[in-house]
Amino acid sequence: MSSESRDGDDPGTFARTMYDDYEAYREPSLNHRRFKHDDIMPLVKKFGEHPDIDLIHEGESAEGRDIYRLKMGSGDTSVLLWSQMHGNEPTATMALFDLFHFFTADDVHNDLRSEILENITIHAIPMLNPDGAQRYQRRTAFGIDMNRDALQLQSPGSQILKRVRDDLDADFGFNLHDQSIRYSAGDTPNSTIIAFLAPAYDEERSINPVRERSMKLIARLDEMLQDFIPGHVATFSDTFEPRAFGDNIQKWGTSTILVESGGMKGDPEKQYIRKLNYLLLLESFRSIAGTTYESHTVEQYEDIPPNRFRLHSAIFRNVTMPFKEHEFELDLAVNRSEVNINGATDFYKRGTISEVGDLSTFDGYEEFDASGLRVDSGKVYPDTFATEDDLAAVDPVSLMRDGYTAVRVEELPEGRHTDFPLNLIGPRGRQPAGPKMGRVANLALYRGDEVAYVVINGFVVDVMEPVPDVGNALIFR
Ligand SMILES: [Zn+2]
Repeated sequence: MSSESRDGDDPGTFARTMYDDYEAYREPSLNHRRFKHDDIMPLVKKFGEHPDIDLIHEGESAEGRDIYRLKMGSGDTSVLLWSQMHGNEPTATMALFDLFHFFTADDVHNDLRSEILENITIHAIPMLNPDGAQRYQRRTAFGIDMNRDALQLQSPGSQILKRVRDDLDADFGFNLHDQSIRYSAGDTPNSTIIAFLAPAYDEERSINPVRERSMKLIARLDEMLQDFIPGHVATFSDTFEPRAFGDNIQKWGTSTILVESGGMKGDPEKQYIRKLNYLLLLESFRSIAGTTYESHTVEQYEDIPPNRFRLHSAIFRNVTMPFKEHEFELDLAVNRSEVNINGATDFYKRGTISEVGDLSTFDGYEEFDASGLRVDSGKVYPDTFATEDDLAAVDPVSLMRDGYTAVRVEELPEGRHTDFPLNLIGPRGRQPAGPKMGRVANLALYRGDEVAYVVINGFVVDVMEPVPDVGNALIFR
């Protein structure tokens, strides 16, 4: 690349340019995580018709959904990418379509495109587990974890991945996943937004030239990402898993880079993390094409902090918990997880008490100093309402200020969750409450006789805030 090129040689400058220009390439029809095979097939077909892209039908999932490979470029170095072998890990799939937009555009970045596509050949298999994506679940339709199937090869997706890897004898492999949003980068409160791994290919976690290339490239990507998400990059555990694809593909001679999209406050649908995936993959292509990753070191890779499982949705510090004639001072954590609804096209949240005790080695996405506050069960409002419509007359905040977290309703609406900010309880239902590990988190925290916070289905409400934000409450029949 010429030194006066707008795209520059320095990864920082390059990334900033591509970051600023990203919107032009973003695939607009994918804008939340629960898209399905039906949503991406028109995109696969459309890009497959582009003269610079070859579309190869690789096979079908167990339920007959087509799996395709898209091939671009003519370089000697082959780069294989596969996404969503776990059906509920879709972030990188979105980024792959953004990259197809980038590579099929005709604009100021033409030199960069040529530079990449003359030196490498890109093979991308988006959504390797479409049956899992349909259900928004990790496993295949018949219930196995495809990433423990690299040796038995029972799943059609596994067979495709193994065959394509072997046919290409790919030089580089990108194993694209999402990880729990509860990891942090090292022993810090920073959520891991992106985790990388150069998977081990043996129990001893040896480093051969194949794995060393993965490590060096990851070191470069980490350096680039620090400009955007400083302190939020980690490495995934490198414990050897003999049945996993990453470990085996590394062993079979393809330099493998595991990318895990994690969690970021304020980005529940991971659209910013998708953009980071786009950036890091583009920089990977550029760096592989120019072998610039060679200037990085294994030591730089090893300096990236490890993933630590230490995040909860919220933690109350130093809360007072009465128990019989005692009072204990402790930390209390809640965690909200997603429950699929409407054919796994949508979800609601369910929040439980995820830990009680000394949580000094944990952090919350939200942190509350509860010194001097006493925790108790959320209360059920004594009056019964005939229908959900009658709740229009209720001021939920004034009920919360009195420590109520639920109301009784004679005729409950369908389903298990409600957008009304308090839990709904049927005539024979009971609200789970109390600060017990594992229980749905419905609590009130008192300063003296005054309520300071209520916790409703794990959502924390400061009752003095003018508009409390409760994502959703639950229905108990
Ligand atoms: Zn995964």
